[in-house]
Amino acid sequence: MADKRTSAYNPVTGEVLTDLARILGPSGVSSDPEKRTAYSLDDTLPRFEGEYLAEAICFPESTEQVSRVMKYANDNRIPVTPRGAGTGLSGGAVPFRGGIALATERMNNILEIDMANRTLTTEPGVVTAEITKFAKGANLLYAGDPCSGDISFIGGNVAENAGGNKVIKYGATGAHVLGLEAVLPDGSVVTLGGKRRKDVTGYDLIRLIVGSEGTLAVVTKIILNLLPLPKCVTDMLVPMPTIESATNLVSAITTMGGVIPTSVEFMDRKSIQNVEEYASMSIPFSDAGAQLIIQLDGMDRKSLWNDVERVGDICAAEGALEVFVAEDRNARDRVWRIRRLVAEEEWTGSMPLLSKEDIVIPVGGISDFFKLLPEISQRHRAIYNAYGHIGDGNIHLTLFPEAAESGDDLAASAESLRRELYEAVRELGGTLSGEHGVGLKKKYTGIFLSKAHIALIKRVKAAFDPNNILNPGKIVE
Ligand SMILES: Cc1cc2nc3c(=O)[nH]c(=O)nc-3n(C[C@H](O)[C@H](O)[C@H](O)COP(=O)(O)OP(=O)(O)OC[C@H]3O[C@@H](n4cnc5c(N)ncnc54)[C@H](O)[C@@H]3O)c2cc1C
Repeated sequence: MADKRTSAYNPVTGEVLTDLARILGPSGVSSDPEKRTAYSLDDTLPRFEGEYLAEAICFPESTEQVSRVMKYANDNRIPVTPRGAGTGLSGGAVPFRGGIALATERMNNILEIDMANRTLTTEPGVVTAEITKFAKGANLLYAGDPCSGDISFIGGNVAENAGGNKVIKYGATGAHVLGLEAVLPDGSVVTLGGKRRKDVTGYDLIRLIVGSEGTLAVVTKIILNLLPLPKCVTDMLVPMPTIESATNLVSAITTMGGVIPTSVEFMDRKSIQNVEEYASMSIPFSDAGAQLIIQLDGMDRKSLWNDVERVGDICAAEGALEVFVAEDRNARDRVWRIRRLVAEEEWTGSMPLLSKEDIVIPVGGISDFFKLLPEISQRHRAIYNAYGHIGDGNIHLTLFPEAAESGDDLAASAESLRRELYEAVRELGGTLSGEHGVGLKKKYTGIFLSKAHIALIKRVKAAFDPNNILNPGKIVE
């Protein structure tokens, strides 16, 4: 295994392990080889198996312990990579320069729900779905909803500004964050924001830390905004003849229809057909150009039904091949199962992979992108399938070699393909990542961000972390 540590950093020696155990207790630190491997991976495909390895894993249980570990690491120049559940898709939790993997899994308490202020305060290691469930128990909605909600942690969601299925109506994770407690790389603790809904006292550092991929601070407490819980939800499965008609439909619903759906999810023909094969199931209209899942929610059935009818009419006018309306829990689960299986099929698939993308384009440019995509992929002898959060213009694109033979240099093919693809995305006003983060795709940021922008990011990083010990090697470094 290549040693990615550089002379800027010190190794985790036996003495360091003893010092860390003094801070965290003997069960709070591990250098067990199997754990080191497990805590050095996330869910990025292809996996970084064996490429980068943490030298120790720390399991703090409190802000104070995080603070002491960070101070120790900073004083001793040891890199620290914060870690949630390790479901990230950009290598954010991968310890690029070795050192300490800082696992937040023992900071897993929901601390408070405040009904008067409609807030929930939580530690970072709580599974997102637990938060949703807890809020629901109080008749309130936590509207952050990544598809990985059953497995990811809220701290990871904040660090990645995770998106998901409800962004078009409710916004990504950051839209729900009112306050943060965070430990800076030198161990000092800051409290930002709070339960108040307005705050212009000083710079908006919450927005800076949200989505900073664990490079600026370790988030140790989060105050989330909750909303009234919608009483009725309806899902529609809408096969459309072409991708173009599917994308036109998104704009038509929100403008002519006057409705902002909770979700508009999209699966192209190849994604649907892959699921049919993978799950041995038959999906109606599986030869349609694309299928959309449109979810609407509301407080009363009558006005929701008016919206459903209006959206249904617009779907028909835009050429929908059918509009299936799922009202009860079972029917709705069946609709969303297809969407979940699309991601699962890819994850378990055995085909050699060129690239997995998380590009985002203004909704009005998506049709143009899909006109360019076949030419680009053909030029690089690639095939693809696409799905994602089309309501936000966020496309998950997976590219495979048309025919891979042993000895093919897939890395070189992926590199030239990505560069051409990214140029096209940039020309359409899009960018590299909508929700998964930059992480280890940092070499491509220069395609999307100006030199001045990158220089500013580096200065911000240096202001927070002058010794560059917190998640080094990510975003633009
Ligand atoms: C099946 C599947 C579906 C997914 N669907 C979505 C989706 O719909 N939308 C979406 O946005 N993402 C999705 N993801 C990606 C992933 O789940 C999210 O990025 C999620 O937010 C990562 O959370 P995590 O706890 O696993 O974080 P990790 O992977 O452990 O870490 C992610 C980043 O956060 C940093 N970090 C973690 N905790 C902290 C902390 N307390 N303080 C500071 N930094 C921290 C890490 O250093 C790293 O940079 C999906 C992943 C999978 C496997």
